[in-house]
Amino acid sequence: MSNHGPGRKGLILEEPLLWEKGKKGRNGFSIPESEVPEAALPPELEGEPVDIPDLSEIDIVRHYTRLSTWNFGVDTGMYLLGSCTMKYNPKINEKMAGTPGISTAHPMLEEVHSQGVLQLLYELQEYLTVITGMDGTSLQPAAGAHGELCGMLMFAAYFKKRGETRTKIIIPDTAHGTNPASAALCGFKPVPLASGPDGMLQAEDVAALMDEETAGIMITNPNTLGLFEASIKEITDIIHAKGGLVYGDGANMNAALGIVDFKKCGIDVMHLNLHKTFSTPHGGGGPGAGPVCVVEELLPYLPAPLVVKHDDGYALDYNRADSIGRIHAFHGNFGVLVRAYSYILSMGGENLKRVAELAVLNANYIRELLQDTLHLAYQTPSMHECVFSDKKQLELKITTLDMAKRLIDHGYHPPTIYFPLVVPGAIMIEPTETENKEDIDQLIEAIKAVVEEAQEDPERLYQAPTLTKVRRLDETQAARKPCLRG
Ligand SMILES: *Cc1c(COP(=O)(O)O)cnc(C)c1O
Repeated sequence: MSNHGPGRKGLILEEPLLWEKGKKGRNGFSIPESEVPEAALPPELEGEPVDIPDLSEIDIVRHYTRLSTWNFGVDTGMYLLGSCTMKYNPKINEKMAGTPGISTAHPMLEEVHSQGVLQLLYELQEYLTVITGMDGTSLQPAAGAHGELCGMLMFAAYFKKRGETRTKIIIPDTAHGTNPASAALCGFKPVPLASGPDGMLQAEDVAALMDEETAGIMITNPNTLGLFEASIKEITDIIHAKGGLVYGDGANMNAALGIVDFKKCGIDVMHLNLHKTFSTPHGGGGPGAGPVCVVEELLPYLPAPLVVKHDDGYALDYNRADSIGRIHAFHGNFGVLVRAYSYILSMGGENLKRVAELAVLNANYIRELLQDTLHLAYQTPSMHECVFSDKKQLELKITTLDMAKRLIDHGYHPPTIYFPLVVPGAIMIEPTETENKEDIDQLIEAIKAVVEEAQEDPERLYQAPTLTKVRRLDETQAARKPCLRG
């Protein structure tokens, strides 16, 4: 085990439940004696006595501080989850979202009293439009999947307006599971499309599936194998030639910021995950934001209201006859939007481009240095993430899961495993741009060490993780019957 890796064994602090720590009569605080005489509750309000433990202040401080040390986050170490872009989120953006005038702004205030908030929303709409190369943006969707749903509703509204009935939608086998789900929720039947031997879509396969009953295609680019779809323009031309529309899943925008013009690629609607690319911490379920950006032809269908700018200030435009309507209360998840706005302004255009360049560089560095250690799923150069598999280790009866668990002992949050589904035993690593070379070198060393251990002492991997509070779990039971006791 590396001497410098983050996973050195140290103090793992045990911590019982507060009920086990409490002792009758201990007190966390004292308040002045009341001058008002005690009065008994009316009998109908009296219930069973509530079992609340008595604790001193330090008992409580230690309890929660210790629990906090069991948590792992990007502030503690590298978070390798591919497809999730678990990058470091600069604290300045948190600070901005917490600015009193912003965090306490009431969503029901009149427009004249909300000019600052509306300006921020308007400018963010404009920035995201420019960053993607599209023509307009709605900030309402609360997450990527919600953006997809919004996009599919717009597809449906567009074809309805044209008096066309289209029932199917093409979904590549590398797509995130939310893609077919969003399409199905809007009544489209997902038609699976297999990716080619190089991990990319082939234009002739798209041409074979595309017909006048198909609403279009949902494409993730770069795709979930971390590869840029080289035939993107050819594919979108095929879809458009048959009157279809193209949905772009922009979850992997971290590889394309300021570099790819999605309109020129032929994308009609796309979502961004602000909680992946634009500096909102994520994990644990949100909140997030999944703004949708569209080309001119689809502008009328965007959710209402949109924030617009008039000569005398900013306003909410509800007067949009073809809009799919509101899909989120008020202005969406406003705090997340503020973080993205602050992130974009503090980075500036050139640095946003650097984000993509460094994210791609870091992933390719890992790919290059690990390709003799782990089986590389595809030879095509990576974008922001690289996909390996356990093919080389399987003969030792060591699986991706074993290696992922052992990596925890070395101090790393495991990468995404067994996704994308098209790669058996996938190990998908996304380092992001915020990791430096020394830390990435350390990670590479740790992965090499795990693979060496697999050869020398496979038992170690079967037992892993051994340095954690909780050892290897029965994952099915853990998900279905969680033990929340710690
Ligand atoms: C994360 C992700 C989504 C879904 O986004 P959420 O914000 O989690 O709803 C969709 N597609 C891809 C490729 C993703 O990585």
